[in-house]
Amino acid sequence: MGKDELIAGLKILCQIQQIDLELKDLQSKLDNIPLQISRWKDELENYKKEITENKKEIEKSTIETKEKEIELNSNQETLKKYNAQLYVVKTNKEYSSLLHEIEEIKRKNSHIEDDILESMETIDSKEKELKEKRKKSEELQEEFNRREKEEKGKEKDLNEKLAQKKNEREKVIVNTEQSLLAKYQRISKSKDGLAIVSLIGNCCGGCNVEIPRQTRNEIKLGSKTITCEGCGRILYCEESLK
Ligand SMILES: [Zn+2]
Repeated sequence: MGKDELIAGLKILCQIQQIDLELKDLQSKLDNIPLQISRWKDELENYKKEITENKKEIEKSTIETKEKEIELNSNQETLKKYNAQLYVVKTNKEYSSLLHEIEEIKRKNSHIEDDILESMETIDSKEKELKEKRKKSEELQEEFNRREKEEKGKEKDLNEKLAQKKNEREKVIVNTEQSLLAKYQRISKSKDGLAIVSLIGNCCGGCNVEIPRQTRNEIKLGSKTITCEGCGRILYCEESLK
């Protein structure tokens, strides 16, 4: 490869690298979209799960309250029966034992009534909570739909830009010498997309290692492809490419 050919080749590599970096950026933005959507979806689902939990708690408290009401009713029936028995017992001992039973049931009932009131208050507050959560959930769902639509729009734009860039790359690549391109691609893979760098002062623009004077001169002359001994990237001199 002659000097002019090499310089032309390095120029094209710089162009390709620019395109590749843009492609990488576009691709990473594209890859991020479904991840972002799924994160939002998870948040929404978690919120909906909370609502389901809330509903379950209300159901549970309602059943417990019903059970307590049944117990209360049954105790009241027993009380009626005992009260009636008070008139027919024969001994004082039976009488006082019955009174004791009656007091015991009254005491229990008073507890049950307190429990029922407490449960009803709990149900009440949980129902309020549920109502608020449902409203919030609808808002979150709407927001999710809006954001998802927005992301899908971005995705479409990015895909178009990506296709354009790939097209551009195809056109540029046609003019590239194959072995130089292969070298670029090999280095690019291992160096996170940065395969060709310019000299900055006396140093490599990729890893900052100082390049010996002799090598710098060779780079400036552009008579052969030179890679940095520090990082292995292809080196060029901005001046020479102008
Ligand atoms: Zn280097």
